[in-house]
Amino acid sequence: MRITKETGIPYRKVAERVNASMAKGEGFLESVRTLALESGLNPEDFHLDPLEIVKEIRKILVQDYSQTLMISAVLGQLVESHDKERYPPPAFFIFLEILAEIDDAPRKIGSEPPPNVDEATTRIIELTTTLVSLICEWGETGIIGVSKECAPSLYDLARTVFRKTKLLQSGMWTCVSCGKIVNVSETRSLLCPACNSEIVNGSPQIFDDKARDRTGYGQLN
Ligand SMILES: [Zn+2]
Repeated sequence: MRITKETGIPYRKVAERVNASMAKGEGFLESVRTLALESGLNPEDFHLDPLEIVKEIRKILVQDYSQTLMISAVLGQLVESHDKERYPPPAFFIFLEILAEIDDAPRKIGSEPPPNVDEATTRIIELTTTLVSLICEWGETGIIGVSKECAPSLYDLARTVFRKTKLLQSGMWTCVSCGKIVNVSETRSLLCPACNSEIVNGSPQIFDDKARDRTGYGQLN
């Protein structure tokens, strides 16, 4: 995030402070601007356009097919982890929704592994966490709805994220492969038991064929 660069405050600290003021009911942009002001920067310099953020996420995800697969795998692990650095599930839901909408990135057969996976992954984390802050309405318990300022074209995205987050809060998980809703304790690697047993024999294809192409699973062997 640009504010991190210009204030020299690490991203994690910025995120913590922004989250703290949002828990008090301030909007995301308001919180960022307050922080900018406190850091001696011009708050008017910080405009965040959700549509631009979506565009940038898409741009990264269509760059390189194997890079996108690696990003997906890393984020999948981060969202499952239980430590403080956990990737927030609502941001992950944003990632999945955008991923499902885009065309496959070009496959570069036999090419070297993409060089900037770490950088691209970090950027995706920043962009998705920012986006979810902007388009969803937040309260003390987390997401409580769609932000009043959410652009109409992102309304469905915000609603889906809200719905999946609410399900998760009540112990339910939406399988990243088939979309079935299962108890979170039954999931394995973000999959429902059925999808998990289908991929046990091959390399995980979770994000390869993506949810819209369900028949692609289990045909490899
Ligand atoms: Zn499934």
